[in-house]
Formats: sequence, structure tokens, C-alpha cells
Amino acid sequence: MSKYSINEKGYYGQFGGAFIPEILRKNVVELKENYLQIMENPEFQKDFQKLLHDYVGRPTALYHAKRLSEKYQTNIYLKREDLCHTGAHKLNNALGQILLAKRLGKTRIVAETGAGQHGVATATVCALMNMECVVYMGEVDVNRQFLNVQRMRMLGAKVVPVTSGNRTLKDGTNEAIRDWCCNPANTHYIIGSAVGPDPYPDMVARFQSVISQEIKNQLMDQTGRDYPDHLIACIGGGSNAAGTFYHYIDDERVKLYAAEAGGLSLTDPEKSAATIHFGREGILHGSRSYVMMNEDGQITEPYSISAGLDYPGVGPMHAFLAQVGRTKTMPVLDAEAMAAALELTKLEGIIPAIESAHALALLPKLKFGKDENVVLTVSGRGDKDMNTYAKYFNLQ
Ligand SMILES: *Cc1c(COP(=O)(O)O)cnc(C)c1O
Repeated sequence: MSKYSINEKGYYGQFGGAFIPEILRKNVVELKENYLQIMENPEFQKDFQKLLHDYVGRPTALYHAKRLSEKYQTNIYLKREDLCHTGAHKLNNALGQILLAKRLGKTRIVAETGAGQHGVATATVCALMNMECVVYMGEVDVNRQFLNVQRMRMLGAKVVPVTSGNRTLKDGTNEAIRDWCCNPANTHYIIGSAVGPDPYPDMVARFQSVISQEIKNQLMDQTGRDYPDHLIACIGGGSNAAGTFYHYIDDERVKLYAAEAGGLSLTDPEKSAATIHFGREGILHGSRSYVMMNEDGQITEPYSISAGLDYPGVGPMHAFLAQVGRTKTMPVLDAEAMAAALELTKLEGIIPAIESAHALALLPKLKFGKDENVVLTVSGRGDKDMNTYAKYFNLQ
């Protein structure tokens, strides 16, 4: 138990908890009473590790990026989550949760999705495990991310367009929770990030912690030392960052940096998704954290060029780590992220997801020693963002 861990009541400091309707209490308690025991069961670990290896394609490479290192006069290692099956780290969590749902005797899965990446990861594991899958997605997102809708449908999922509210991610999440309330006995809700009521944030962080476990082993092999001096990740809800930081949280030799989506402005919250920069304490989707809201406490619609980072909340773990100063959270503007994406592409031949490009955009903002080691998680690949890149860079 460290000073940064979640406590037995489900809080990181003042953040977290489980603010849920009474009808869900039974489900959430069932999950809380069972998740650690199931996850630590050797049979479960055997199944999970085997699929991580054979199906997801783990361990993902830790790549020493020589030209990028030269540019920033340090040693930069990229943790290549972009090489995971379906293109991002999200499958680690979806796979873990569906194995857990099976052991809880559930037969039906619901999920929310914004950009569609978590929906695709969930539809993928539901096909794999032969489970019924319903994905709630704001109608605006259905239209914006139609390729992912088609993917989910091909995988056998039912995609339900949500027409309430702003018809985006927050509304999809509300609808998924509503479905779960109506079908508590047979349904598990696979949440897509380190958010939601306790125990979701901790459970998702544990499933993603394979990222930092591998970084430790790979750094040891490649540098003779199992920790870096600097560790960098982007945060939307905070699952890839939670996984990247997990095994280093108590190791104060390692400096932790999180990049959040600044959008178009660091002074106008209407044009940004920088939740830790702008947000106020509030409750969203079952937990207390920083939330983007207006004077009346209404959740506002965040903006970022990156569809995976425009969530109006942030996982309670990251709210806490930022508050106590364990992580340094920095907002990155759209233009900075896009320039960083192009830089990585030109220097290393890797087209990152725009989300991941936010982490890369911290490189010019930070100071590194020549002999220091920097590990940066490339959370996903850029294929899904090619339309945005093509328009932005005017690629013919
Ligand atoms: C969804 C997504 C993110 C943001 O989610 P987190 O839970 O904060 O990790 C980041 N990168 C990629 C590639 C994504 O698909």
C-alpha cells in the first residue's frame, strides 16, 4: 500500500468513489468483491497472459528511437502500443474485462464509445468470446466515425446511436449505464478508460499495467536499468497513462508527465479538452474527479482535434496524482500535437494516433539530460486519423 494507491473505500485522496443509482449498487458491489480475487487467480492470469501474447501481440516493442533521440539530445524509447491488435492499448483492458465478466457468469456486454476505438476493442473481444455486444455511441460520433461503426457491425456488435444531450461520448456513456441498470443480472459494462465508479478505475489500471511491467523488463534488457528518468503518456480518461505509470508510481526517481488535450485554447474552456487545466471538482459517470463544467455545474462539451481525448472528465487517479504533484500534467494544443505527429512520421517512419501525438508534443517542452532515458508511450497508430491528417497537412 503506497501513498498513491487507491484506499479500501475506493478513493485516491478526495477523488474516486462510487456515485451510482441504487439499482446498480448490487452489480458494482459484486464487481468490487470479486475483481481482485479473480484477477489474481492463476488460471485467470494464465488465460489472460496467453491471449495478450498470442492474440493482442504482446509484448509490444520498446523501440530506441535514434533520430528522435538525436533531435532532443537524449535517449528516447517508444513503447509501441500502436502495434497491438486493433491498433491501440484499449484491447488490453477489453480483453481483461471480458474474461472477468465470463467468470462472473455474465452473457451480455455493453460499452460506450466516442471515437469508436473502445467500441471496436469491445466488439472484437465479444466476437472472440461469443458474447452478445451492444455499443452505445452518440449520433454525432456515429456520423463522424462511420468506419469504426462498420467495423463494430462486421464484428457482430449492435451499435445504438444515442440522440440525447450533445449526442457524443458523455451521452453514449449515460446510455450504456442506463442499459446496465435495466439488465443487471446478465450484463457486464466494459468501460473504456480508467474512469467510472470504484472499482473500475483501479481494475482498468491493473489490466493496463502490463505496459509498465513490460517497460521494466525491456529497459533492463536494453539499458541495464529497469527504470527511466522520464515517463510520458497522453491522457483522455487516463488508461494508457495509468498502465504506463503503474509500476513506477512509488519510484520517485522516475518523473511522470501526462499530456492532455488543449484543443485550440488554454484560456477558453469551450475550445479545449484540458480537464486538469480547466476542470473543477465534480461528479461524472460515477466518480469524483475534475470535470469540465460551466458556472451552473452543467457538463460542457469539450473540444480536441483528437477524438479519443475529448472527454469532459479524467480518471480519479490522475486527478489525485496531479493534485499532489506526483505527475506533471501539461496541456498540448491541436497544432502542437499535429506538428509532433509529423515529426515522428518523418524521423522514425511511425504515424502515431493523434492522441499519442499529444504525448510526443511534450518532448520540446521538457528538459532532458544527454545521458538520461525517456520512455514515451505511443498509445495507438494513426490509420484511423488519416482523414484528419490529410486535411490538416493538405496531402493530395
Ligand atoms: C482512447 C485512446 C486514448 C485515450 O484514452 P486513455 O484512456 O486516456 O488512454 C489515447 N490514445 C489512443 C490511441 C486511444 O485510442
